[in-house]
Amino acid sequence: MFEDYHVHLDKVDWSIGTIKEMCKIAKSRGVDRLGLVVHTRALEGFEPLYHDIIADGKNHSKFKFGRSMDQYIDTLVKAKAEGCPVDIGLEVCYSPEGESFLKKKLKEYPLDFVIGSIHLIEGMHYKTAIEKYNDTDIVGKLYYNLVLNAAKSGLFDIIGHIEVVRREGILGLDHFPDILKNIADSMKENDCALEMNTKWLVKRDYLVPDCDTLKYMESKGVKLIFGSDAHHMDRIGFEKDSAFKAIQNAGYNGFAYLGPKT
Ligand SMILES: [Zn+2]
Ligand SMILES: [Zn+2]
Repeated sequence: MFEDYHVHLDKVDWSIGTIKEMCKIAKSRGVDRLGLVVHTRALEGFEPLYHDIIADGKNHSKFKFGRSMDQYIDTLVKAKAEGCPVDIGLEVCYSPEGESFLKKKLKEYPLDFVIGSIHLIEGMHYKTAIEKYNDTDIVGKLYYNLVLNAAKSGLFDIIGHIEVVRREGILGLDHFPDILKNIADSMKENDCALEMNTKWLVKRDYLVPDCDTLKYMESKGVKLIFGSDAHHMDRIGFEKDSAFKAIQNAGYNGFAYLGPKT
């Protein structure tokens, strides 16, 4: 069973027709099952996660909170009932301050899996954090420690794009060995999977995470899943063959299938 666990529904209409079309595309590319997600910043009711940022009164154009979580769940539950091979997921913006809110909120919905991703550092975008601290090592430590907190929280089935900050010149996790060890231990303890994310092959020439981090995670027995992070249907299963080669080079035999929870 090969599942693409990171396919966004943020930019499409939520209808059975759309889901069926996506499943058809998936099948034609050798993707057996789709893990569907939306960003929490698109959903009504998730405003408390962004409380500190919204409080600054500035216009954060990516924070919309306009779509209904109930409609999202209803559409996907129906799609499943009609036999679409999909799992219902969310991509959550993790911050330590949001943990108590998330603990309650995520239990309200029949989710098959939840991806925890760090999109903000101390409420700032990565670039802004680097401008503020003017030191990629300091910001790298802040970012990876947030990843560690996400892994420790036990809230997530998957950690999303773990080394995405490399795009801002921050080094990979193998340059922060103590944090890497703690992240791997926490992921293992909480049965949390690592994501091989292929989105960065679009504009940059690398997979996230890199080979050294993958090798370490494999040696610690951390599960690995595939995620294209597709925001458009034509990216479903994007570069899955490159991803497969890369993980084999790092010692993994294949991608894990987590199975539906609902
Ligand atoms: Zn993300
Ligand atoms: Zn994503």
